[in-house]
Parts: sequence; C-alpha cells; structure tokens
Amino acid sequence: MLSHELSANQIKEKIIKREITAQEIVEELFEWINLKEPLIKAYLCLDKEGALLKAKEVDKKLDNGEKVGLLAGVPVALKDNICTVGIKTTCASKILENFIPPYDAFVVKRIKEEDAIIIGKANLDEFAMGSSNENSAFHITRNPWNTDCIPGGSGGGPAAAVTADMAFMALGSDTGGSVRQPSAFCGNVGCKPTYGRVSRYGLVAFASSLDQIGSVTKDVYDAALLLQVVSGHDGFDSTSATVGVPDYLSDINNVDGNLRIGVPKEFFGEGLNSEVGSAVMNALEIYKRNGAELVDLSLPHCGYAVATYYIIATAEASSNLARYDGVRYGHRSQLSEDNIIDMYSRVRAEGFGSEVKRRILFGNYVLSAGFYEAYYLKASKVRNLIKNDFEDAFKKVDCIISPTCPTPAFRIGEKITDPLQMYLSDIYTIPANLVGIPGISIPCGFTNTGLPIGMQILGKHFDEGKILKVAKLFENETDFHLKKPNLIEPEPKKGIDI
Ligand code: GLN
Repeated sequence: MLSHELSANQIKEKIIKREITAQEIVEELFEWINLKEPLIKAYLCLDKEGALLKAKEVDKKLDNGEKVGLLAGVPVALKDNICTVGIKTTCASKILENFIPPYDAFVVKRIKEEDAIIIGKANLDEFAMGSSNENSAFHITRNPWNTDCIPGGSGGGPAAAVTADMAFMALGSDTGGSVRQPSAFCGNVGCKPTYGRVSRYGLVAFASSLDQIGSVTKDVYDAALLLQVVSGHDGFDSTSATVGVPDYLSDINNVDGNLRIGVPKEFFGEGLNSEVGSAVMNALEIYKRNGAELVDLSLPHCGYAVATYYIIATAEASSNLARYDGVRYGHRSQLSEDNIIDMYSRVRAEGFGSEVKRRILFGNYVLSAGFYEAYYLKASKVRNLIKNDFEDAFKKVDCIISPTCPTPAFRIGEKITDPLQMYLSDIYTIPANLVGIPGISIPCGFTNTGLPIGMQILGKHFDEGKILKVAKLFENETDFHLKKPNLIEPEPKKGIDI
C-alpha cells in the first residue's frame, strides 16, 4: 500500500516510528494530488508551502525527542467555510472570493496544536447550501467512484478528497447532512457530533441552531481520533457545551451490554432505492448475528422534517447572510451606485449564486410580518414534536440505524433544476440536526454499478462514544471501508462527425 492510501492513524504511527518523515509524506501526497486533482477537483486552494513548513516543525520535534500531538504529521483538508488565518476562506462564493480571515477557527487551532498539517481548503456548495456540490461558484467536484456523478453536498470537496486519498482526513460542517451525505456517496465515515459538542467559532454561519462541525475520515478509529481533538468547551461559542469529553479511543472495540438497535419504519419507506434498502437490511443482520436486538420503531413526525428544516434553515440563513453588504469585507461592486441601498443590492446580486438567493428570499418570506406564525413558529413547534419522537425512541433503544440517504450518488445535472428533489436527498439526515443528536455514516455496501452505500447510526445527545463503538463493531466485521475507487480518466466521449 502506498503511504497516501493509509488511514490517518496508520500514517501518524509511521511518522512517530520514523519510518517516514512528515516532509516525505507531504511531498508524496502533493505528487498524488497533482496527478488526480485535475480529475476530481476536490480543492479550492492548496497550501503546499504551509504544509511543508508544518511538516518540518513536526520532524524537528521528533528529531529532538519532543512530545508530538495526537495528529502528528497527518495531512488534513478543511471545508472552505472554516476560517484559516492567512489562507483564503471563500465558502465557494464570489462574495468571499478574496477573503483571508484574520483568525483561525477553534477546530483549526486545535488540530494545529495536535500537530496536524493543513493541506488545503476543499470545495462545497456555496455557503454550504446544497446536496450535490453543483452550487459552488467555482467548479464542480466529481465523485471518485464515478466521475459523472456528484460527490454529494454540501461537503463534496472534503469527502472526495478523502476518498481519492488526497487527504487523510477532513473537517466539514453539517447543518442538514453535509458531512454524512457526501460521506455516504463517497464511501467514507462521516460523523456529525451533538449540537454543542464542537465549537463553531470560525465556522461561517449558515443556520445557527443547526450548524455543527463534523469529520470525514477513512475509518471509524480516525473519526474517534479527530473528534477527540476537536471536542470540548470554547468560550468563544456561546452554544458550545460544558459537558466533559470522554475518551473515545481506548474502549472503541467494546460495545457494552446487549445492544438494542431501533429500526424506524419511516426511514425505510417510499422513495428508498432498493439496493440501498437491502444493503442496510444486510448490515442489520450482521448486528443481529453479533448479539444485537433489533427493535421496530416509529418516529411519526419525521415525515415533516424536510419541510421544517427548509423553513428554519432558510430563516436563519437570511439573517446570517445579511452581514454580506460589501462594506467591511467581501465583494464590492465596481459599478458606481447612487445610494447605499443600491450598493447593497448590487453587491448581493453580483456576489451570491442563485441557490443562496433563493434561500435568502425564502427565509425573509417565512419571517415576514403576517407569515411568521404560519411558517417559522409552526416549524419550531413541529421541531419539538420530532424531538419528542426521538426522546421516546431512545427510552427503548441505544441507537437508531437507517440508510444515510435514500439513493446512491446521482448524476451531475440530474437534480439541479429541481430543488425539491435535491432537498429530498437529505430526508434521513435532517432529523438529527433538528433534534441536535449525533449521527455517523459508515460504508455498508455497493450498488451493482459500484457506487458506495452509507448507513447512518444515530445516538442520544452526547453519546458519540456509543455510536462510534456501534460503527466500529460493523467495520470490524466487514471490509467496505477498505475498498478504493479506480481513479482513471474516463474514455473521452466520441463526438458526432457532421
Ligand atoms: N443539503 C442541505 C442544505 O442544502 C444541508 C446542507 C448542510 O448540511 N450544510 O441545506
């Protein structure tokens, strides 16, 4: 196996044992990126110089026999809505095209402290709004398993980078599924922690009551490792929890007691692709063979989750995005304006893409006088009903298992003109954001055409330790997570001679 194909923990062990230097691995990785990035286009920006500098620092620490961090020498990609001091953070939007943050996000600070190496900023749907990556203002990232397909969204860049071995792990954001859905489509492990588990300081806000930073990794151990590093209280994020951070790593192979797994009927109904459904059913059988009890469940209000989410998320987005006015930072129109209102309009008309505009309009509509009660207030009430469904369910079970998405990755262009179809691809991931519980997507099979299938494990608030163990149990029994795509340029399509 080539070095860049290893997991984050494996490469860290090799670096610590001095079997390879951090500089060597960075050099090798960038060679691979140079070869494969033109095909996949996972990144918006790469920082080889910064990566080599950090690698030298790690190697020096090891030379001097100093203690190194939990991510010593591990090259990491960051979704480009996570602020990095001195490196552009664009949110894949023209409005932030040249924005260089003056500070690091909390998670960036933490991974740097643990000696990770930041290699670049990965592509996303503009402002993390989308499910396919097609809303990036710059380019479309391709799914490494089939480059005619989308990698998922909004974090298609981080997921494609990890799948194509162009990063050992990545951090992203999950507001309605943007870590779990692309991970499912690309065959990675995608973990969205409990709301409040990881500080969002320095994450560009989309919908503040839903946003959470999560990880994209090659296996479950790496997910636990990265969560260990980025979890914990931060005074700069008022929603960051003060709940203590357990040790996610030492006991990861021991599922305690008799595992009770909830199987909610609403997640296996209409719209579910049959190959996805049977892969998850087969996975449930593996748990059963390992002593788990499967409990049939109903989460009756989940049918309203997508509608509820698109009211709450757009309402919050419309106020969060009001800060982009072209005055303090971001895009400023070159055309002259007569007054400040025209100036704001021009900045936003030029700077935002069409999906972001749709969400701002929608959000302003549902918040406007006369409509607030009918939409936002009602959605908040339905959100509570969904929360109650999960609370009741967790009285009976330890975790809930479902498909991560109703279908495998779809083709580029297939849904982009039909927003409703696009929104429905998040049907199984959105409830966890509305309720604030943790969820993890792990690979559980492949379709006949070779596309990965993801299975979602949901847990109680702050029960990340449990879902990681449940995920690890499955991973220990299977090898789906070890499969690699064949990154070969597709045959050029033959044109028609006229
Ligand atoms: N696809 C969802 C949306 O478009 C979720 C996005 C996300 O989690 N950032 O809003």
